[in-house]
Amino acid sequence: MKNEKKKLSLTVQIVIGLVLGVIAGLLLQNNAAFAKEYIKPFGTIYLNLIKTIVVPVVLLSIIQGIISLEDVKKVGSIGIRTVAYYMCTTALAVTIGLLFANLLSVGAGYVLPSEELSYEATAAPGFMTTLVNIFPSNIIQPLANATMLQVIVIAILFGFGIILAGEKGKVAANVVDSFAEVSFKIMGMIIRLSAIGVFALICPVVAENGPKVLLPLLKVILVAYAAYIIHMLVVYSTSVKLFAGMSPLKFFKGMSQPMIFAFSSASSVGVLPFNLEATEKKLGVRKEIGSFVLPLGATINMDGTAIYQGVCAIFIAQIFGFDLTISQQITIILTATLASIGTAGVPGSGMIMLTMVLQSVGLPVEGIALVAGIDRILDMGRTVVNITGDAACSVCVDAMDKKREAKKLAK
Ligand code: ASP
Repeated sequence: MKNEKKKLSLTVQIVIGLVLGVIAGLLLQNNAAFAKEYIKPFGTIYLNLIKTIVVPVVLLSIIQGIISLEDVKKVGSIGIRTVAYYMCTTALAVTIGLLFANLLSVGAGYVLPSEELSYEATAAPGFMTTLVNIFPSNIIQPLANATMLQVIVIAILFGFGIILAGEKGKVAANVVDSFAEVSFKIMGMIIRLSAIGVFALICPVVAENGPKVLLPLLKVILVAYAAYIIHMLVVYSTSVKLFAGMSPLKFFKGMSQPMIFAFSSASSVGVLPFNLEATEKKLGVRKEIGSFVLPLGATINMDGTAIYQGVCAIFIAQIFGFDLTISQQITIILTATLASIGTAGVPGSGMIMLTMVLQSVGLPVEGIALVAGIDRILDMGRTVVNITGDAACSVCVDAMDKKREAKKLAK
């Protein structure tokens, strides 16, 4: 009970940090440079601390998760379910984004300000390059650069290696276990600073993007947020109810802390420590499942980003007078699903991957310039969806696996 109280107070602290950050941001609107120069750095320090610990946490928790599954086949079956869930929900997410943007004519009534139209497209990698980039060419660099997909591949290889080494792998397993615990403790210390971190992250965003920047593109923001919310309420509520018999209310309540943090930090990877804790402690997901499904999700599963890409593609098409055919919209669903895998879980990366989606159907990449000004606002919402989707998947995969084990025992 005492423990419960303590955790509640951290959520309350984060909410207070968020609210104070917004108020301070509004007050500092005419002095955004101050917020940028003196408040933002504290947010950066906080995110940097999280980034420092997140690589060891991902590496060690995935290895630990795989070792505790004990059997290569079992890892395979959980992996397939996880990836299948991620792919299906992401495809659904783009579809919802496209539907909302089409039905609500997201681009209607917007006048194109010609001076804004220059966007230097950062080349988004093609499919084959994305595929090659998943695999590391050495062990050190991916860890140093926090290239998450490669870190995951390294973790999977070592996890399998330790299982296959049997008796001789025991020492390695113990070392992983011990360092994993140490990393989690470090993570716990950093998480305690969250209220300050959230304050320092949100304040400069509000100061820089006050109502002035938001108003002209309010419709894009509203359509994207409507799609984000409907996707979470429909897809995640249904899947946790259907696969795990969990009440959606319990799910969202348990997720409140990671969701608030996602909103303020716009970084799935940064939220990972919160997500690991919330799914285990509040939603009852077994640690070995969570520590495999969540880091993978923070890297490849981006439903919110997919929704955003659908909405922006239609917005840009409508502004430039393109009529997208059904087959072009299907192409968008496919590319956005793939693009979301390649999107890194850090602020702003979804916008870079939007280039790939626009190019796939021949839409002008310059259109990104129109939404670039409000990207952070869209990013905060899409990150909330991204991490909530990871958690929903961990709840479902955990429940499916428990059922499978119960059946096996009954035989
Ligand atoms: N910021 C998002 C995330 O970390 C990725 C994106 O930019 O869409 O999940």
